[in-house]
Formats: sequence, C-alpha cells, structure tokens
Amino acid sequence: MTSLDDIPVTQLKGVGSALAEKFAKLGIHSLQDLLFHLPHRYEDRTRVTPMGRLRIGDLTVVEGEVMKSDLVMGRRRSLQVTLKDDSGFLVMRFFHFNAAQKNQLAEGARVRCFGEVRPGRAGYEFYHPEYQVNPPPMPADGEATLTPVYPLTEGIQQPRVRGLCQQALVYLQRYPIKDWLPPELLSDYQLPGITDAVQLVHSPPASAPVHLLMEGRHPAQQRLVMEELLAHQLSLLQVREQIQAREALPLLPAGDLVQRFQESLPFDLTGAQRHVLSDIRQDLSQPVPMLRLVQGDVGSGKTVVAALAALQALGAGAQVALMAPTEILAEQHYRNFQEWMTPLGIQLAWLSGKVKGKVRRETLAAVASGEAQVVIGTHALFQDDVQFQRLALVIVDEQHRFGVHQRLALREKGVGGALAPHQLIMTATPIPRTLAMSAYADLDTSVIDELPPGRKPIETIVIPDNRREDVVERVRKACLEGRQAYWVCTLIEESEALQCQAAEATAEELVERLPELKVGLVHGRLKASEKADVMDRFKQGELDLLVATTVIEVGVDVPNASLILIENPERLGLAQLHQLRGRVGRGEQASFCVLMYHPPLSLNGKARLQALRDSQDGFFIAEKDLEIRGPGEVLGTRQTGMMQFRLADFERDKGWIEPVREMAPSLMRSPVIVEGLIRRWLGERIRYGDV
Ligand code: ADP
Ligand code: MG
Repeated sequence: MTSLDDIPVTQLKGVGSALAEKFAKLGIHSLQDLLFHLPHRYEDRTRVTPMGRLRIGDLTVVEGEVMKSDLVMGRRRSLQVTLKDDSGFLVMRFFHFNAAQKNQLAEGARVRCFGEVRPGRAGYEFYHPEYQVNPPPMPADGEATLTPVYPLTEGIQQPRVRGLCQQALVYLQRYPIKDWLPPELLSDYQLPGITDAVQLVHSPPASAPVHLLMEGRHPAQQRLVMEELLAHQLSLLQVREQIQAREALPLLPAGDLVQRFQESLPFDLTGAQRHVLSDIRQDLSQPVPMLRLVQGDVGSGKTVVAALAALQALGAGAQVALMAPTEILAEQHYRNFQEWMTPLGIQLAWLSGKVKGKVRRETLAAVASGEAQVVIGTHALFQDDVQFQRLALVIVDEQHRFGVHQRLALREKGVGGALAPHQLIMTATPIPRTLAMSAYADLDTSVIDELPPGRKPIETIVIPDNRREDVVERVRKACLEGRQAYWVCTLIEESEALQCQAAEATAEELVERLPELKVGLVHGRLKASEKADVMDRFKQGELDLLVATTVIEVGVDVPNASLILIENPERLGLAQLHQLRGRVGRGEQASFCVLMYHPPLSLNGKARLQALRDSQDGFFIAEKDLEIRGPGEVLGTRQTGMMQFRLADFERDKGWIEPVREMAPSLMRSPVIVEGLIRRWLGERIRYGDV
C-alpha cells in the first residue's frame, strides 16, 4: 500500500526539481517529511487592526489603500509605500524590491499586509511585510484560523511552505500516517492520533482554542512534542545498546595499588566520593562497558575519584586514557597523576595535538606497546594514529560537551578493537535532573553531593566597574597578605584573538598599577609549554596575580588562590560564572569572588548576578541557568545540536521528561517502532553529537 512516505514532494503542484533540491537539503523528500516540517508557532491574523490603533511591537494585519508610493534615496535606497485607512496611516518599506512590485503597489491599490510595527522616519512602519494586493474578504468572526509559521528555510518563502503543506494535507486524508504509539498510551494521556494531530497543527480549525495553540499546549501539539521527546530518548537508548552490545574487559580489583594510593593521600575520601567509587567499581568489574556520568559540584573532588578508578583498571593490568578539554587542565592532571602514580611504579604518557615529530613517534610507540599505562591529554588522544595496546578505561574529565557520537566512536579503541573500553565521564557543570534524564539517557549517573570538609563559603561581591580603583586596591592588599588572585577578562566576541588582546591589555595595566606584585598572563594563544610554565609558577606561588581569559574556566586547582575578580560577568552564563568562581574556595582561607559588571545592568542581568551572589549550590544555579538560557546554552555548543527540537521546548515541556523515560524501555523491545520513530524525528540527520 502506498504511504505518504512513498509520495515524493515533486507530486505537489509547483514543486519542480529546483525546489525539490532545496527541500532535499532539509531532509525533506516525501510528503510525510514535509508534514513533519512542523509550524513552530502561529500568528494571529484573524483580525484587521485599524491603523490609528497600532502600537510599536504589534505583530498584526492592516488593510488600506495606497496613498502614495515613493522611491526614497537616503542612506539606503528604499521603496516607501504609504497606506491609509479610516483611522490613520502606515508605511510599508522595502529595501529589496523589483519593478513588478513597485507597479503593483501604485497609488489607489488596495493592500492587506502583515508585519511588525516599528517607529520609522515616516511614522509607524512595516519593513518588508507580507502583503496581498486586492485581498479576498476577511473571514467572518469565528471562522478565521491562526496562520502557521514554519521554521525558516533558506530560499523558500513562508507562504510557499504554507501552501505546499495545505496541498499535502489533501493527501493526508487518503493516506493516514502510521501511528507508532500504542493506543493505550494515547488514551492514558488523552492525546489524539498522529494523523489528526498533524492535520490540526498545519491547519488549526477556527474552533481550536487560540491561546493553547499560541503557547504550544494544544493536545495535538503536545502529542507531537511527546513523540519527539520519545524519539530522542529512544535514539540515546539505542546508542547505549550499541555500545553495550560489545563486551568489555572486566576489571576486578586486584593488588594493593588502590590501597597504597589511598594511604598516600593527605585526606580521607568524603562519603559521597566513596559512594560514587563503589558505583564505579561495580560497573568496572562487569564484562559490559561502563557508561557512567559523574556529576559533582566545583571542588567536590572528582579528580581523586578518577585516579582511583584508573588504579582499579591498572591493577587489572589494563591501560587507561584520561582526556581533558583544555591543555591547561590536561597538563594539570598529568602532573597530579605523575605525582600520585609514579611512586607506585606506574608509567604515564602525555599526548596533545602539539606533541609532534620524534617525541610523538616515541609516545605513540609507548602507547601501542603498553609501556605507557596511563595516557593523558586532550582530544588528540583519540586520533586515528593513536593505537592502544590494552585500553580498558577511558576517563573524560570536565567534559559534558563530549557528544554521543564520540562515545560511540570510543567503542573501537578498546583491547584488540574487539573489547569496548569502559567510559567514565565527569561533568564540568552540575546538570539539572530533567536535562540529565533527556540529554544523557544513554549514561548511568552518580552524583558527588558533598564537598570536602573545612571548605569556607566564598563571599561573592557584585560591584560596578566604576569602582575599578577600589578593586585594584583590594587585589593589592590581598596579595601583599600572601594570597593569590585571578583576574578574569571576558569578551562576548567569539574571536579568541580579541579575547587574548583584552587580557594582554589588562595585564599591562595591572603590571603598571601594581608594581609590587608579580603578575602573570595566560590565554588560549600561548604555546602549550608557555601556558604550563605560567600555571606552574602560579601554582608554586611565584606569581601573585594571574590575569586570564576563560581558559581557566574548568578544573584549574590552585588551593592558595582565594580571590577571583571577573570582569563583565553579565556576559557569561551562570553555570560558567559558577565554574570560574570555583577556582577559589579550595583552601583553608576565606575566599572572595568579585563580579565587576558594566552598568547599567538589565533587570534580568541583575537577577542573575544576585542568584549567583546568594547561592553556591551548583545544582540550583544550573536550574536557574536552564530557565533563563535554555538547554543548548547549559550544555554547551557541542550538545546544542542534540537538544534542538522541532517542537518540544525544554522549559514548557519538561513535564513529559519523566513519563517519556518511563515508557521508553518497553518500546525498546520493538525495533520497528524504535526505527520508525527515530527516522521520523531525527531523519537522516547525523545522529547526536556530530555537530
Ligand atoms: P573538582 O571536582 O572540581 O574537579 P578537584 O578534584 O580539583 O575538584 O578537587 C578540589 C580540591 O579538593 C583538590 O585540591 C583536591 O586535592 C581536594 N580534595 C579532593 N578530595 C578531598 C577530600 N576528600 N578531602 C579534602 N580535600 C579533597
Ligand atoms: Mg576537576
């Protein structure tokens, strides 16, 4: 039987090969694909607003007669068309237009247009509104429907997509869409069938409640939202299955490495660290690859946990790889691990993209022969030329951005390419529960929910940058008392070069103003060895003040540093600020974080900095960040692709996360359904993480 999936878009009137090609780029080939290109919002064009009652910012329909149409030269040439109705005037302005348009919009023409009201040179204006000349009569009250708005598609105009979807709906009546969800499930949640839902969202009837549709809470929309979230969940569970279909080397605790290491530590593990370690030990002893995410607030002591996991693997004769997101952090781990493990007779190797030539060849040989038991570095660890002899555990630190695709690729790196390595992922940021449940459905989670004893709370101070003098004095005083401080320069510009320039300028200024202090500078453009050298001198206490870009954001651990000053904190996300602040408060002394903003602060900006001032709980802060900035920002760029939903909105629809998680496992037993849903919602888009 034919289905919508078998009917190509070229079947529709007006779709030639050129348009079909544009659609193909969006992964739209069949009519079903087109109907799953869903409107993400609606416009209310059911009423014409009298021009005399327009307000700036209104998104609305007006209708009137062209009073005059002028070509205005100005800074940019534009076509200025003045419309009038009984109540007032409105100008439509076009910066791009052709002769036909100009002729059409001649004096006396009757025009209906839709746009956003803006203040302009000639009064209220619509820029590039959608318009119709000689429009048909407006539907009577109670007959009009909302206008669907589709996600932007390059080279295809809204009205065009709208028209084509309407055409496709005619086919929908004859060829209903396969409903993958069990009927019991739909009735439990009182949701409509898939065909009805699709029909309704593309062409909502006049009787459908406008406010529900506008907010995305109509049952038809919610049905689709739930299905979309479910498809994402299933896709992650499928990744997990694919990884765990491989066997792993069971790493049974053996020898006394773990014990000797623990005895050498100057502190006892916290209860939370012990707890998480017992989860990890349990996983590692299985012949199935571990897939575990360890979340722990800044300073909760994840590194020691990583080291202990590594030692269990080493005790079982396996190789371990530890990857960190930045060279600074990887380097710091390399040093820590050297200090901890060399006395235990363990061989370590360092590998980053910058290790070249002879040294690289030698390192690769040591990794391949198994002589190097622990290999530490950046993502360069997993380039193709790196062959491990007996890799059985991969630890990814402070790297919640590590994508699913990469987790999948790691399968191949294990012993003999046949046994998959165990994976331990440590997050840089606590992740709100709902988000973790959906974004990391393929991982088990452990939380280190306790800080080592004796930590003093960090006092956070919010101050405008016209008090810069005072702040510089404060730094001077703290450093003269023997403390160390960070001065963090931020810039919104993506350009790393600009960031580094700003940090250089600040460092110069501070060197001049604080001649009695030793000031260092670290940023992303320094060579790895230079960075390491500066960090080392700071750690050894040879430098008092470290001026830095956000390269020190995660992981850097210098317990004697007790003051951090962050410039323009209003430009950063809360989670990122919390991470930066976590560079202090690691030692015995009272610590301070000074947030020096550039006034005026927006209301929202003020609320954000206050939230940070009032709380030191990473989970609370992450929740706030999620509310304010959405999941893409909280998870970071790499994961953004995976949280890009067509319809679902994380905040609005989080009520679905738990039910979806509950229904997923039973659906996993039916590969046809899983494939059907994943194909429908994720399509040919390369799966997660590969963005
Ligand atoms: P994070 O979780 O942010 O990666 P780290 O692993 O860098 O934290 O640990 C922060 C600091 O706390 C380090 O200096 C570490 O040596 C210390 N530390 C870790 N565990 C404990 C503990 N149980 N007791 C005291 N100090 C600890
Ligand atoms: Mg860390």
